[in-house]
Amino acid sequence: MSDHSNQENDRRGKLLLVGFGPGNHEHLTFRARQAIEEAEVVIGYKTYIDLVRDLIEGKQVVYTGMTEEIDRGKAAIDLAQTGRTVALISSGDVGIYGMAGLVFELLKESNWDPERGITVEVVPGVTALSSCASILGAPVTHDFAGISLSDLLTPWEVIVRRLEAAASADFVIALYNPKSGRRTRQIAEAREIMLRHKAPATPVGIIKSGLRHGQQVVLTDLEHMLDYEIGMLTTILIGNAATTTYRDRMITPRGYRSKYEARLDAVAEGTFVAKRKVAGMTARITEGGEG
Ligand code: SAH
Repeated sequence: MSDHSNQENDRRGKLLLVGFGPGNHEHLTFRARQAIEEAEVVIGYKTYIDLVRDLIEGKQVVYTGMTEEIDRGKAAIDLAQTGRTVALISSGDVGIYGMAGLVFELLKESNWDPERGITVEVVPGVTALSSCASILGAPVTHDFAGISLSDLLTPWEVIVRRLEAAASADFVIALYNPKSGRRTRQIAEAREIMLRHKAPATPVGIIKSGLRHGQQVVLTDLEHMLDYEIGMLTTILIGNAATTTYRDRMITPRGYRSKYEARLDAVAEGTFVAKRKVAGMTARITEGGEG
């Protein structure tokens, strides 16, 4: 790090960790777009760079391969330390199975001082769980667990323990990295674990390239899920005990229907009166529906 770049605030380099969402520009957040535009240098895995190609014309681009994550993180930090504004881009949310954690680990190892060193901003994005859920309707509405089936960085025993725990506690489960060319056994084992705790008819959504060119959507159930194509670009959403389907939609109720039934019926009839505390007083408000 050059001392010069640290002496004045406006000479400090900046590292933007940017999640660009599922991969189309409509679902790129406003801040993510700004951050990519603001950057002088853009770093990312080749496929990710291709997804934002039209936003980065004229910028310095540093490509790296899928497995070169540490190099990519180091390169991003080194470039920011020369005083430049650098965007490290990642699909979905950069903090969800993305580069953000690794970058902060590297910064910690280098004794990064946020007051004097480079500025770091994490720009959130729409993660695959959200984008894939939106395509299916409302499959996640209740408590959920995201589990990556990739055992490249996590021991398989740990993943199995988490699958067991999440399935036995009746979470809606989003499986990231379900399968690749070489990793084919994990998804079959994950399904077996699910079936120990969830009914075979539990709805399952399989989304490939959600909200991106080439999108494919399958709505099936735990029993039949392996009959369909699953790969690197797929996210799998597995319902909880209350999840249902309706005309190709997957719906997880927000609450337990019995508790709300009387209230929902009253709303339908237009006679629902909610009691709400307003500044210590109980106000009576007529509502048209759920908030
Ligand atoms: N940071 C990303 C996740 C990276 S891990 C995010 O927040 O979404 C890579 C996995 O994400 C893939 O194996 C797949 O399970 C999921 N994924 C990423 N983009 C996707 C998309 N457009 N459609 C479906 N799944 C996607």
